Amino acid sequence: MEHGSSAPCPSIAPILQRSTTPFEIRMLELETALERILAAVPPAMGQSIPLAGAHGRILHERIVAPLDLPVFDNSAMDGYAVHATDVAPAKPDAPVRLQLIGKVAAGETFAGEVSRGTCVRIFTGSTLPRGADAVVMQEDTRVEGGEVLVLEPAKPWENVRLQGEDVKRGAVLAEPGEVLTFGRVSLLSACGLSSVKVGQVPLIGLLATGSELREPGQTLAPGQIYESNRLGLAALLRGAGAITEILPIVADVLGGTRAALEDGFARCDAAVTSGGVSVGEMDFIRPALEQAGGSLDYWRVAIKPGRPFVFGRLGKKLLFGLPGNPVSALVTFLLLVRPAVLRWQGAREVLLPRHPGVLAEPLPNPGQRRHFMRVQADDKGSVRSAGIQASHVLSSLAVANGLVDVPPETTLQAGSSVQVMRWE
Ligand code: AMP
Ligand code: MG
Repeated sequence: MEHGSSAPCPSIAPILQRSTTPFEIRMLELETALERILAAVPPAMGQSIPLAGAHGRILHERIVAPLDLPVFDNSAMDGYAVHATDVAPAKPDAPVRLQLIGKVAAGETFAGEVSRGTCVRIFTGSTLPRGADAVVMQEDTRVEGGEVLVLEPAKPWENVRLQGEDVKRGAVLAEPGEVLTFGRVSLLSACGLSSVKVGQVPLIGLLATGSELREPGQTLAPGQIYESNRLGLAALLRGAGAITEILPIVADVLGGTRAALEDGFARCDAAVTSGGVSVGEMDFIRPALEQAGGSLDYWRVAIKPGRPFVFGRLGKKLLFGLPGNPVSALVTFLLLVRPAVLRWQGAREVLLPRHPGVLAEPLPNPGQRRHFMRVQADDKGSVRSAGIQASHVLSSLAVANGLVDVPPETTLQAGSSVQVMRWE
């Protein structure tokens, strides 16, 4: 699948000409390919859903605070609501005596008022009674009959959580395109929201092509291997918010590939396929899509691992045709398909997050294309190669937690600062 030259060699030219529509194989920079894909993604559609199921979804509306947080002045401690001036002189050996005039539990309000020389028993979250301007914590008091002995002073508004100090009514809490993190879900709950408008999620089918592929659990005949792209891709798709459907393995025959694509498009909003996108006579994704009436772009993206990539359309359905080599498929997905899936839901930020790191060893790229090398970054930001970098080697992918973009014909030396692209 990874061929040495970017132009089709003479021996495969007749096969290319057999294609139903003429097409051009273009070598594209990664960023150009991504721009074209993102431009073709349909605009996000919004839907209202219960906040209970909104974690991880992309907001489709601006959220404005409908109330203040805290909703009212309340106590940060179990203790006594007081006048700060009353307790200003309090010391352990010279306590201030206050008359205890009542109690306010969380969820209640105190009907009376705290006048000078009095106090009210209060608990964390209880409404601050009228008249009080501080809370003395229980640990700094002693109760004697109907009196409370205050042993320490409290400054005005000490141990009081003021109305609106967290969020002011009318403040913008979140914007369209932002992810509903668990923190945002908590904030919106605290504001009383029970539903929220989010971007609709695409249903994406995963299809694997290759006559050599068998389902894990089956017995392998000579020459056969287990299919390993769909589950990894499904995990990454779900991580990007999509719903996935595992479609069948398809043998390398034109009719079967076309039928599988048509079936996938009938069930899903888009199909992600792996394999069958090279220029060999056993690569049927491109002709199958054309036969089904679809249109496509076929690119050689100037990256390693990866390179051949089909981006096609049949009506409103999209096809992302990834190379078959497992690491090529997964890396190409991360760089080109994940952003499209996120943009489809309206996400503002679609690129993999980057974390700074420092190389603990050199990362050499003698090749002509940018190499997205699998790396292991530790929690101190020290980065090393995750192992063998060939596009069929999964053991290094299994221990990698990021990619480093190494420019062509360049060795990034030990000690260099790098950006690690992370996917988890
Ligand atoms: P292709 O892109 O179809 O030429 O496949 C390139 C290489 O990846 C071949 O060695 C295939 O056997 C392998 N391959 C393709 N698809 C898969 C898959 N779904 N799971 C595991 N290996 C695959
Ligand atoms: Mg194949």
